[in-house]
Amino acid sequence: MLKDLIKQYRTEKTVKKPNFSRIKTGVNEAKAVMPEDEGASAKVKIGGKSYTALPVPEVPDDCYRKCNFCGKAILNMDVRKNLYRCPKCGGYFRVHAYRRVEMIADEGSFEEINKTMPFVNPLSFPGYENKVQVMKEKYGLDEAVVTGRCRIQGEKAMLCVCDSRFIMSSMGHNVGEKITEATELATKEGLPLIIYCCSGGARMQEGIVSLMQMAKTSAALKRHHDAGLLYVSVLTNPTTGGVTASFAMLGDVILAEPKALIGFAGPRVIEQTIRQKLPEGFQRSEFLLEHGFVDEIVGREDQKEVLARLIRAHDRGRISEAAKRFVKEGTALFGNAGDNKGAADESGSAWDRVQISRSAERPKALDYIERIFDQFMELHGDRAYGDDGAIVGGIAEFCGMPVTVIAEQKGRNMKENLKRNFGMPSPEGYRKALRLMKQADDFGRPIICFVDTPGAYPGMESEERGQGEAIARCLYELSGVKVPVLSIVISEGGSGGALALAVANEVLMLENAVYSILSPEGFASILYKDAKKAKEASEVMKITAAELLSLGVIEGIIPEETPASMDTIDGLSAELRQRIGQFLAREEAMEPSEVLEERYSKFRNL
Ligand SMILES: [Zn+2]
Repeated sequence: MLKDLIKQYRTEKTVKKPNFSRIKTGVNEAKAVMPEDEGASAKVKIGGKSYTALPVPEVPDDCYRKCNFCGKAILNMDVRKNLYRCPKCGGYFRVHAYRRVEMIADEGSFEEINKTMPFVNPLSFPGYENKVQVMKEKYGLDEAVVTGRCRIQGEKAMLCVCDSRFIMSSMGHNVGEKITEATELATKEGLPLIIYCCSGGARMQEGIVSLMQMAKTSAALKRHHDAGLLYVSVLTNPTTGGVTASFAMLGDVILAEPKALIGFAGPRVIEQTIRQKLPEGFQRSEFLLEHGFVDEIVGREDQKEVLARLIRAHDRGRISEAAKRFVKEGTALFGNAGDNKGAADESGSAWDRVQISRSAERPKALDYIERIFDQFMELHGDRAYGDDGAIVGGIAEFCGMPVTVIAEQKGRNMKENLKRNFGMPSPEGYRKALRLMKQADDFGRPIICFVDTPGAYPGMESEERGQGEAIARCLYELSGVKVPVLSIVISEGGSGGALALAVANEVLMLENAVYSILSPEGFASILYKDAKKAKEASEVMKITAAELLSLGVIEGIIPEETPASMDTIDGLSAELRQRIGQFLAREEAMEPSEVLEERYSKFRNL
């Protein structure tokens, strides 16, 4: 062990130099801002031998270096201006903690806390103190994380930034302590918490005490969450080991930088265990997004904006202010619905409407979402298995009011339909919806759902992963959320797959939408033993908006003068906007217990 440590020091004392000649042309004015090491030299003694950690010479802006992704020569200045990404290939370099703070916090707003902490060496591990001392002097950091209060586009936040240069940003006692204290302070002061994660894992020199930091940070985050506060985790390259298995994966929202390595076990350990080479892209951000563990991959140019928007959308104070405004100005803004439930033209048959509801020309959920809401930000994944394209969900604003939007999404053509699975959700889709519903409830955001599905996907994999359980859980949780829920059936409302998003205070249907226990074809084949009798079945099933309104299954009809299409969508969206506004103005005037009771009674009486 000690041998390894000494070997490590010997390597460190040789400063890595780019393997091409630097062209010095100017006076060294600016401090080097390269992603590589920098800082002053330090002398240390290990095992009776003296070592010097040499400083990296300050690199002027107009010097070239070699990109370690594409191998091309790049100008320092260009790298810095490009947010520490290669101007040639776009590769992401690691960023020093204080540079990261500069990139995210409003200028001059960062107020560091716990800048220094007394050194601890729980195992009295030989040479550890010296190693930490070298790091401190070399990088001008006290530990592998920097924490402090700041503002992000004016929004107050607690910010923690890990720095991978400092013993691979491994989580020793002081790293855990700094993060825990920042989290506790955020809880006390009612601040959202942002952690930029990167880590090689536990800090071996601190043994079991390092392991305990996983529990300590997680426990502090639980209290922060229970206080109704937002935590956003941003995963950067690399985030592995104990950090991945604790605070990194506990964000209400988890963002990642492109192509970052994120995993529990390191790739080398996995390869040695399974004796196979891992495929390209394994354990990268994109892989995690696909597997449901990351909400979104966000480039450096957008991170500040995205963080500020997330903070605003999860600010309970702001949400409750907006709700009050809706109650006060709702009628003036959206009119009074009164008893007008809307009506359907009586000339069309149920079978006609079945055909219209399935038409490829009909607008899909996202077409309405982009016209009705502002700033829709899609959030991905069920945090367990995958990200289902058949369900989209996220946060948005409706006339300044933060809302959660969840929708079943069909494709417009074959390519889109393959991605969307023809609007037939899998269990992971419902579990994503469930996650977003709970989050809406935690932060007090009303939920607006759009229903458009032939039914839940009836494949083998769906059964293996518990389709029934996933749908049941949605009904269960939706019935209990304390925020208002509005569902709009825009085209097809097929069976339990539709109901999973429709346990709402109010269900509206577009005039030509249908909502049924199963498809008329399925109904006919069960009851008439002949799927060809679907037309006949549709006439007795009571599946049209007018029939469901009279049954009390839905609360209102949105008329379609001509069947909905991309030509009429603007008018329909305006109508939906008004109905959503009226709904929110009415529901936000109610106590949460009344909202709950209203929803319960509605289904209790059916
Ligand atoms: Zn490059």
